[in-house]
Amino acid sequence: MILSSIKWRLQLWYGLILLAVLAGFGVLAFQQERGRLFQRIDGELQRRVNAIAGALRPPAALRNAAGQPPFPQPLAAASPELAPPDDGPLPPRERMRRRAFQLPEPQARLFDEPGSNGFYYVVWARDGHELSHSTNAPEPALVLPAREPAATRADGRRRLPGEPEPAQLRGTFREVTVRTPPGEIIRIGRSVAAELLELRGTAWKLAGMGGAVWLLGLAGGWWIATRAIRPIDRISETAARISHGDLSQRIDISEAGSELGRLAAVLNDTFARLEAAFARQQQFTADAAHELRTPVSVILTQTQSTLSRERQPAEYRETLEACQRAAQRMRKLIESLLELARLDAGQDVDRRQTLDLVQVVEESVALVQSLAADRRVRLHTALQPAPCRGNADHLTLVVTNLLTNAIHYNRAGGEVHITTATEGQHALVTVADTGIGVAAEHVPHIFERFYRADAARTAAQGRTGLGLAITKSIVEAHGGTIEVTSEPGRGSSFTVRLPV
Ligand code: ADP
Repeated sequence: MILSSIKWRLQLWYGLILLAVLAGFGVLAFQQERGRLFQRIDGELQRRVNAIAGALRPPAALRNAAGQPPFPQPLAAASPELAPPDDGPLPPRERMRRRAFQLPEPQARLFDEPGSNGFYYVVWARDGHELSHSTNAPEPALVLPAREPAATRADGRRRLPGEPEPAQLRGTFREVTVRTPPGEIIRIGRSVAAELLELRGTAWKLAGMGGAVWLLGLAGGWWIATRAIRPIDRISETAARISHGDLSQRIDISEAGSELGRLAAVLNDTFARLEAAFARQQQFTADAAHELRTPVSVILTQTQSTLSRERQPAEYRETLEACQRAAQRMRKLIESLLELARLDAGQDVDRRQTLDLVQVVEESVALVQSLAADRRVRLHTALQPAPCRGNADHLTLVVTNLLTNAIHYNRAGGEVHITTATEGQHALVTVADTGIGVAAEHVPHIFERFYRADAARTAAQGRTGLGLAITKSIVEAHGGTIEVTSEPGRGSSFTVRLPV
């Protein structure tokens, strides 16, 4: 459940990444601190190894005239517990050297014997016999190292005689062991308990700081994720309210600049257009019902009144004719509605062909010729080739609608001029009349469904207000445009532009 939430998944992901990065940095910092500390101690150990090695093999110049080392005092005299064990059958030179070994004063100062954290040393002869050790050397350090210590270094090269083994940590002691070229073993060590304590403190400090940064990062991430996700919640809530029928709902956009803010703005725009389209659809249905109700009312009233008593044949005839006119009007309305429904569904695209608007105009003129004659309106054509691609039936309907209006809204004895031409990448057809024209306030609306500039009068004349709406739908379905210029009292001119 939690892992299906984007917010939790994001949180988990960057929580883990942050933890890995902080742990990496923490371990690195700890290792560096530890390395720095032990490097300093190891340097000190090495310095003391060199001092003892120098004391074991003093330079020839320091020897006295008898060829003896300069420190003749037996070790036992200086420190009885360091007295060498029974010499046994040792060669006289070795016996002499063992007895003679004692750290000279400057080197002895390097070992802080009374201090518990001081450096200590242990020296063994080649045969494993202990030659000397400092008083503060801990018990485990007095154990002779293995006969053959790690003979090779980490890089695989054989360790040279006198080359120290890597310093080692034995409990809380840091020690380095060296085999001199003649075979003595020197071990120098020092307690690092204080340093280990200090390192433990550093580790806790690093862990504490890392933990604090991690928690801060998680809290910051949670805050950003919550703020980032909030618009999505608002979008879903609004979409849910809209789906329950309240199309006026909009998403509250507080961060218009963010990606989700822009998405919310686009969705709000879409909701607004959906609401407008829905309102148009409702208006259209109401208008269609209203338009159909009028002829139905006519039929009902006429028939009820006629059937209320016995009538003369002429009266029946009159009633039937009124019903026929109402039925014809209904048929016209229903055909127009069906045509619009087909256009809205975009069903005419398959039936397009290359044609010339000249033929379309000639066919339409033939269709309205008798209407023009009835109204005593003269039709004038000036046709130039205007090829284009389109549905011939639909384009004929476009020109017929424009011609019917140009005749219907004309004055007796008026004229209609029809021209076709090509202009750039467009085929043009223009229908201009000398009729009543359209008032400026109506011009923006005359292409709307069921819109009539003089609704009462034109409805009575059987005009549906759907002709120009159908015309515009067809033209736009062909990728074209329709424009009107009109001057009340002088006439109107409709121009259709279709892509070649
Ligand atoms: P109608 O069936 O009412 O003619 P249309 O959609 O064809 O419906 O036209 C809408 C309105 O535009 C008409 O009611 C009329 O007021 C106006 N109109 C259309 N063509 C002309 C024209 N040639 N001259 C004047 N008014 C026109």
